Amino acid sequence: MKLLYISAELYPYVKTGGLGDVAASLPPSLSKQGIDIRYLLPGYAEITNILVSPKKITTLHWNGMNATLLLGRLPNGLHAYVIDAPEYYHRANPYTYADGADWPDNHLRFGLLCHTAAHLAQYDAKWQPDILHGHDWHCGLIPAYIAHSPEPRPATVLTIHNIAYQGLFPHSVLQDLRLPPECFSVYGLEYHGQVGFLKAGIYYADSVTTVSPTYAGELKTAEYGHGLQGLISDRENMAGILNGIDQDIWNPATDKNIDTSYDATSLALKKNNKTALCTELGMDPKKTKLLLGAISRLTPQKGFDILLDCMPALLEKGVSFAILGKGDAAIEAKLADIAAQWPGKIGLRLGYDETLAHRIQAGCDAILVPSAFEPCGLVQMYGLRYGTLPVVRKTGGLADTVRDQETGFVFDHATQESLQDALDRLQAVYKKPATWKKMQRQAMAENFGWDTAAKNYIDLYRRLFGDNVIMLPKIA
Ligand code: ADP
Repeated sequence: MKLLYISAELYPYVKTGGLGDVAASLPPSLSKQGIDIRYLLPGYAEITNILVSPKKITTLHWNGMNATLLLGRLPNGLHAYVIDAPEYYHRANPYTYADGADWPDNHLRFGLLCHTAAHLAQYDAKWQPDILHGHDWHCGLIPAYIAHSPEPRPATVLTIHNIAYQGLFPHSVLQDLRLPPECFSVYGLEYHGQVGFLKAGIYYADSVTTVSPTYAGELKTAEYGHGLQGLISDRENMAGILNGIDQDIWNPATDKNIDTSYDATSLALKKNNKTALCTELGMDPKKTKLLLGAISRLTPQKGFDILLDCMPALLEKGVSFAILGKGDAAIEAKLADIAAQWPGKIGLRLGYDETLAHRIQAGCDAILVPSAFEPCGLVQMYGLRYGTLPVVRKTGGLADTVRDQETGFVFDHATQESLQDALDRLQAVYKKPATWKKMQRQAMAENFGWDTAAKNYIDLYRRLFGDNVIMLPKIA
């Protein structure tokens, strides 16, 4: 079985959130289990620069532009097709200007990605994928192109990592995307008078999956489905396959980004990381007691509204915060404001810093993920691994990964009261070091490696591809 894995992000080269982490971890896991897998990626400079032994496969003609399709290897050893089109992909952010506004040609940039995936499935006779597995709206047109191409066709899988991002564009873009006009239908890619990339994927894909069992159920409801709940409900058996985490990169026993390594048997050493983190963020370690962390894209999804409402009372009680975030200007401004009011009590970094994220996980007592919705969430799983107890809302993957009062603190509603209740319970447990430590050990004993997810995806591919699956030998 040959599988083409298509993604708009790949850690550590281009990452804005969990999508990049998943693209870095799942394909190597699938490869280890015997899947013949290759990537297809946009040619960001960060990707073309690290591609090993790139060879030109063909020239792609697209909207008056010529791009080069390269095939090389990534440092992780897997083959990758890369679309070398500097005018599309050499930009500071994969999706937006610095102020957060979308690049105006995103439909062309990701349309080319989708079109190339479909082209590869029929063009390269030597390595023709049997399955195209795309992720999020950037890959939504792949199943549409395949549905309109001649047989034999590969099977298509679309994984929804976040339904809030749907890739909506005006009707007028359709003519640039090389899809027949009849696609623009409710039985196609039309969505409230616009062209919907994600809508197209959900409509045309052979299989649609999402990244946790709870989110799979939530997507069928008006509260979480962002208007696509009807279409999703019509699909039978939408799988919710829980993401894993890279347990080598996120391992407090070997993490080179942190001050002092530790594991579940040497938890006392964790406090060295707290001391180092406080110093790094301009807080006095001696005056810092309970330290709560947050690492997040700053969007309305992530629950900073209710967190900001809870913060004054917590600060009054002597609680400190270490916050790393980037995004919405209004949320950034509110955080900067409260940090200025509480000097030495809130270590705030507005920006994106991969290594600081590790130090916050290692140095804090608890990590806050109060999201209004969270398809899977990785931050809470990293927290569990670092014995940094997660405080999460009972939604999506947060509900599937954190056990209340056993491995973390779970609250029901996206309200200040509900979050406050969880934080009250947390403070009560924090006063009982033996119970706190027991919870830390339970959290650190959880296993969220990729093997289980990879097996679930392989079962899905088998169902799509039939039983005549030829697998490569497993890599030990
Ligand atoms: P999402 O994909 O919605 O952003 P996830 O929890 O699935 O949320 O994944 C977030 C990933 O991005 C984690 O690896 C987290 O550490 C990282 N991250 C988020 N914001 C920042 C930031 N400002 N700096 C560094 N890493 C960040």
